[in-house]
Amino acid sequence: MIAGKVFKMALKNGMDESLCRDLTDALDRTRSVALFQTASLVRDRVFGREIHCMATVGPILPCKLKPHCRYCSFWRMPVLDEDAVVDGVRIMEQRGMKRVLLVGGACTEGYDREMTDIVKAVKKRTTLDLELNIGASLSQETVKRLKDTGVAGITASLETVNRGVFMQAKPGDCFERRKRFLEICDREGFEVRSVVMAGCGESEEDRIHHLVYLRGIKNLRYLMISRFTPQPRSPWGGLPGCSSLDWARTIALARLILPHVHIVMGGGTRTEDLSLWYPTGGGNQVFGMGTMSGGSPMKHPSELAIPVNERVSVVDRLPVVGPLMEAFGCRISFEDRMPDETGERIRKGYLGN
Ligand code: SF4
Repeated sequence: MIAGKVFKMALKNGMDESLCRDLTDALDRTRSVALFQTASLVRDRVFGREIHCMATVGPILPCKLKPHCRYCSFWRMPVLDEDAVVDGVRIMEQRGMKRVLLVGGACTEGYDREMTDIVKAVKKRTTLDLELNIGASLSQETVKRLKDTGVAGITASLETVNRGVFMQAKPGDCFERRKRFLEICDREGFEVRSVVMAGCGESEEDRIHHLVYLRGIKNLRYLMISRFTPQPRSPWGGLPGCSSLDWARTIALARLILPHVHIVMGGGTRTEDLSLWYPTGGGNQVFGMGTMSGGSPMKHPSELAIPVNERVSVVDRLPVVGPLMEAFGCRISFEDRMPDETGERIRKGYLGN
């Protein structure tokens, strides 16, 4: 009964905060399957079964936060030099990719010049759509300039809307600066990607509040749901990570509150998690390629490694991701389409009554 009402409301305009709280009271953890089914139906109506596949390259710059985020050891990874970034992107382009996300670290003093140089170098040698994720490390002027040079998207994220939890987890970062940055990127008309980090100490209420806040970001196109996983060589290394159930419920709630946004797997997840992400309302975008450096072991025997130089490789995960998604009746595409015509009509309010 409630699922039918929620389905209509979500399709119409996404659920508001009070309906969402009624829903999570009615569909508590013991009735999560009904939540997942409803979210998947909404996803199918809005996006259909075509999965957009894109790639990531990084780290492109060292993370200079002091102290580093308490759950992270990503900052220890060797940084790719400019040639490796450009060559990695070119290999991805040759293998069919049309969009790539260049990823961090962050710097409170700003990475304006460094990021501008990298974008110029990549744009000179490739035609892919570019997205950037280096925390809130760019000034408003640089954001404007990057828009003029044709950067398509910027990741601007809070991770959690609970300021106290944010400061505990990310003591070297600034909640207000991140919020300002998110709003600037939206105002400047970028395709915005944001992140909800599920399970870092916030409540389900906080997650709902965060998702509802993101409804106000009009250019939000992608939302990554990370699964909080404190990394072994980090200060929080021994703490428990986000449970599968909490991660899955966050995906479903994100779909119901933000029906026209791609709900994407974020940090702390592995390719195998696609089997939980998709049936709980995730979709329709996956990361099918990425860079790997320092001879890290392949995560799956069917993945392909294409050398960029003696230290860096491009990992093609499509031999794993493709069959997994086909098992759900989906097909992989390199085209990043807007929600289908049904989605357009829903957004304009012609449907869902
Ligand atoms: S999670 Fe924090 S410490 Fe780790 S790379 Fe990102 S900004 Fe730096």
